[in-house]
Amino acid sequence: MPVSAPRPCSHVGCRNLAVAGGRCADHPRDLWVKKPTAAKRITGRRLQAMRAELFQREPLCQECKRQGRVTVATQRDHIVSLEEGGEDIASNTQALCEECHDAKSLAERTRALRKR
Ligand SMILES: [Zn+2]
Ligand SMILES: [Zn+2]
Repeated sequence: MPVSAPRPCSHVGCRNLAVAGGRCADHPRDLWVKKPTAAKRITGRRLQAMRAELFQREPLCQECKRQGRVTVATQRDHIVSLEEGGEDIASNTQALCEECHDAKSLAERTRALRKR
């Protein structure tokens, strides 16, 4: 069987020879790089229970409340988003109205984009 000629690592600017998947040992494919795992998002019945508990505890939008407005909360928000290392636990959640939740999500997305 002919041995295919060694190819260089496909990582930009790398001169090492590829060992597997077109990458050298220093530049494994992104798939192999363990991403810091975001906390597991609670779903299903447990989520429903946590939502109910949250809105019972905080029926009003916390952000609106800070600004002196009274708005019924409809969204369960992670104070520190899971993507930013927050945990899916009661102490990291707050009740927000849709508008405040959207604004916060947008800010989080913008931060995530800037990090790249
Ligand atoms: Zn490389
Ligand atoms: Zn609000």
